[in-house]
Amino acid sequence: MREFVTNSPKDTQTLASQIASYTQPGMILTLTGDLGAGKTTFTQGMARELGVASRVKSPTFNILNTYQGTDFPIYHFDAYRLEMTGAADQGFEDYIGTDGLTIIEWPQFMRDLLPNDRVELVFKRSDEHTRTISINGQGHYQAIEEKL
Ligand code: ADP
Ligand code: MG
Repeated sequence: MREFVTNSPKDTQTLASQIASYTQPGMILTLTGDLGAGKTTFTQGMARELGVASRVKSPTFNILNTYQGTDFPIYHFDAYRLEMTGAADQGFEDYIGTDGLTIIEWPQFMRDLLPNDRVELVFKRSDEHTRTISINGQGHYQAIEEKL
């Protein structure tokens, strides 16, 4: 586990762009943290670095947005609205651990679909401008954070 502290949205996006160079198709990043913790801000920084031209918005209402990066697609989930319905039988498996990078906000609501091989990020709001972001690789990605 490794922790980073950021002091602005731009800082968080810079961190995301640095981590972007370690991503690859099939990789899963889970972003856990309260509303406003910076999960979508982080995703914007990562997507931009991976060559996404359009603006990344939170997919709260449609659960999944797909973006085309330079080398592979990016599947951005916001599972918040699955708390009540669950994530089964919606075809989400096709977008997890397949041909793209999968980024999941509120992964606790898609728990049953997540393989153990993933990189877990936890976002905490320390004050208005400060966020603590911890990174912890699991399974195949064990200790990936040591390389960042
Ligand atoms: P989430 O997706 O976790 O709900 P967002 O990324 O949508 O969070 O929102 C984060 C909010 O916090 C934005 O309004 C952003 O401007 C603000 N913010 C302030 N400081 C930071 C920081 N260090 N990192 C990320 N966002 C920050
Ligand atoms: Mg969000």
